[in-house]
Amino acid sequence: MTPKRNLDSILRGIREINQRLNNDRYITASTGALTRNWLPNLDNIIQLFAQVEYSFHLTQILTGHGYHRQYLHRFKIAETDKCNCDPNAVQDILHLLKDCPRFIRQRVQHMAICQYLKVKPFEISDLLKRESTIKLFIELSFLRRDNPPDAVTDASELSGNILIKFSEQ
Ligand SMILES: [Zn+2]
Repeated sequence: MTPKRNLDSILRGIREINQRLNNDRYITASTGALTRNWLPNLDNIIQLFAQVEYSFHLTQILTGHGYHRQYLHRFKIAETDKCNCDPNAVQDILHLLKDCPRFIRQRVQHMAICQYLKVKPFEISDLLKRESTIKLFIELSFLRRDNPPDAVTDASELSGNILIKFSEQ
């Protein structure tokens, strides 16, 4: 990546996060807290977008706005905020990343590589020390368009409030 593109990527990432947070600040103050939890300071944000391209998948993790039921339920797109794996578990980003048994194979692989490379598997500032681990973290398969947690298939459907139900797994 050239220095110019690198800077563009950093600025685009910061702008996207800012925009999403401003748009939804009135809905919940906890949204900003999640982003600050992942990226406590500006150096972390700059370093992140210097290493990886901005993507919708990444902002799902950073902002908590995405295809998981906690978010969809807030906008009455999903009937419940609970995950299929446990009637008491709220399906939020952290549940999908750290606890949900549906994604255990990808999680175990990610954690094993992180352990081998001596980085903390769910701390972005630590993952940034190894480019391969931050990319693997973002690529955890539940965030891919072809494998959403359970409900919608793309952002245009989300914005149009059209819900396509997938068969329960
Ligand atoms: Zn689950």
